[in-house]
Amino acid sequence: MSPYIINTLETKIARFEHLLSAAPITIYTRKPFADFGITFISNSVKELLGHEADAFIFFPDSWLSHVHPEDHPVVLENFHRILLGDATIIKYRFKMKDGQWKWIRDRAKLITDSAGRALEIIGGWTDMTELIQTEEALKQSEKKHRFLLEQVNAGVIVQTPDTRVVSCNRQATHLLGLTEQQLLGKSAADFEHVFINEDGTLTALDDFPVNQVIDTHKAVKSRVLGIERSDIDEIVWVMVNAFAEFDNNGGIGVVNTTLIDITPHIKSQEKIHRLAHYDSLTQLPNRVLINERIEQAIHYSYRENKSFSLLFLDLDDFKIVNDSLGHHYGDALLRQVAQRLEHSLRETDSAGRLGGDEFVVILNNTNADGAAAAAQKIIHLFKDPFAVDGQVLSIQTSIGISIYPKNGCDSNTLTRHADIAMYHAKQEGRGRFSFFDFKMNTRLEYRLGMERELRLAIEENQFLVYYQPQIDLTSERIIGIEALIRWRHPQRGMISPADFIPVAEDCGLINPIGEWVLRRACEDMKTWQASGFAPLKVAVNLSLRQLQEGTLFNKISNILAQNGIAGSQLELELTESVMMENHSVTLNFMTQCKDLGIHFSIDDFGTGYSSLSYLTKLPLLDKLKIDRSFIQELFKNNDANTIVGAIVNMAKSLRLKVIAEGVETEQQLDYLRDCGCDTVQGFYFSPPVSYEALTQLLAQEELIA
Ligand code: C2E
Ligand code: CA
Ligand code: CA
Repeated sequence: MSPYIINTLETKIARFEHLLSAAPITIYTRKPFADFGITFISNSVKELLGHEADAFIFFPDSWLSHVHPEDHPVVLENFHRILLGDATIIKYRFKMKDGQWKWIRDRAKLITDSAGRALEIIGGWTDMTELIQTEEALKQSEKKHRFLLEQVNAGVIVQTPDTRVVSCNRQATHLLGLTEQQLLGKSAADFEHVFINEDGTLTALDDFPVNQVIDTHKAVKSRVLGIERSDIDEIVWVMVNAFAEFDNNGGIGVVNTTLIDITPHIKSQEKIHRLAHYDSLTQLPNRVLINERIEQAIHYSYRENKSFSLLFLDLDDFKIVNDSLGHHYGDALLRQVAQRLEHSLRETDSAGRLGGDEFVVILNNTNADGAAAAAQKIIHLFKDPFAVDGQVLSIQTSIGISIYPKNGCDSNTLTRHADIAMYHAKQEGRGRFSFFDFKMNTRLEYRLGMERELRLAIEENQFLVYYQPQIDLTSERIIGIEALIRWRHPQRGMISPADFIPVAEDCGLINPIGEWVLRRACEDMKTWQASGFAPLKVAVNLSLRQLQEGTLFNKISNILAQNGIAGSQLELELTESVMMENHSVTLNFMTQCKDLGIHFSIDDFGTGYSSLSYLTKLPLLDKLKIDRSFIQELFKNNDANTIVGAIVNMAKSLRLKVIAEGVETEQQLDYLRDCGCDTVQGFYFSPPVSYEALTQLLAQEELIA
């Protein structure tokens, strides 16, 4: 026996007591009956509950008084069960010395002798407070968590690494239109919904946020997805965030996906997009979107080495409809034009409205031949008149074509060149199309330059009025004059009205210019009258734009009054096309003028619609002026003689006066006299001359008379 081994009873007890007090459990023994009084308890109870061990030993039954009254039944019941031989674990609250409650786990067992008689109950107390508190806190936090999940506006879906749904909240079921039962256990592939991306394309299965997280182990942030459900018509738009929770091995435990409903946001975004990209009147793409489409076409054509065409449409005389019938008609007409355009196009082509009466058509993958065919087809679309509120409106369009890459390589240039070509088509006679040609560029620049110079000409008084006498064929005397404007340009000299009047009409400058001519003519008439010359009639040319302004009648009557000129001394020359419009505005204007005694004559008769029947519908008309092209053809072309004869006859039968313009020869003059023509005007008698020269002519006449 080793001298170092001490095994006295004393040391054994000491060792045992130390073990007991060092153990994390407070060991006790108690009576196996009645109130289960404590017979022994280890000193560690002091640490556990603050009570001395002796306090239990001296008052064995006192322990129950420390137990929370609510826990008495369960404790006693359990000890009774122990008596039946079952080892039991009980949890109950025990009052500490300082009055605080501690959770105790009591693990107890019955000890019996070899005959099976109960000797005592042995057990141990463990402090459970912290654990139970954590458990409780956990339970609370889980409850709160769940509450938050339900309250929060986001849908939450938790999925396993094989994408099976293990939990979801109410908002998730709401957004997906599925019940919790329908969702739980489903994997991503099981969803019958169609998911779409922000750009409208379908979302592929492996592109689902959950699958992306699983593939990459990275979170998916702020992904926008549309959910097309079978139960509702609208697409539900959600902002999706998804992230993985990893397990201890670094593998994915679950994937959490949150879905936030952004449908209202997307809807207003769509509205804004629509507003920014579509024309609200016709619903066609507007300038912005058209430019984008042209860029796309350029992109595609460049890559594929192809060409495409750009058609620039401008309706002919649209302003007449708008100004005379009102915007309501104009707008309705534009809408119908847009519809016809859109219906006529191939799916790959697109039409848009640039504003006003300007439209654009992009013909993808189209060369010059294709563009010409398409342009012809579009012009044909305008053959049938449009109907607005029972009113039949006929309108045509002029089209300019530019072709990528021949006529330009960027959207701006292509559009500008198509515009120039369109302008060219208008000049060629409207209702037709033109291809862009680099020569046209200079022409447009010339036009823009002229517009600038016209404004300057008004400011700097560069205009003059010339007068051309009109001779009565019976008396061979000057009975009238036509006022014809002249522009004495400081550098370029005299510019023909044939060159600048169309530009002035186009940009609206014809209104101030035309008014100026009227005023000057009346002022000159006043001077001649004051000089004692026999009363004359002055003819002034009017453009459609002037009629459309609406204030023309007032201006005319003011000018007449200011100069003391009778209305019967003024004749207004309107072209056939202006008369043909026959709009209420024109008729109204003519009626007002008639009340002042003002005369009307049709200028350039025969060059316009050449429809004689409409003359019968114009009771306000006084005179018909045979266009000089017919006079010039007399004796060169037999038809011309026949036509001129017929025009004079017809005019007579309608009780209209007839004047022939552009008379240059005696032969022409004789023929016209034979036909019964009343008056002539032309170089044969006199070209248009200045105020001074005309005064001379008038003075000569007086002498002859
Ligand atoms: P228009 O009204 O047909 O005027 C007659 C034109 O024929 C004038 O040209 C005149 O100079 C020209 N002419 C006259 N007799 C003869 C002739 O025997 N032979 C030939 N070959 N030509 C002759 P002009 O003055 O150059 O005017 C051209 C056009 O400009 C006018 O054609 C008219 O449409 C327009 N215009 C001129 N002045 C005004 C104006 O004050 N207001 C408006 N709105 N237009 C005007
Ligand atoms: Ca004229
Ligand atoms: Ca004329």
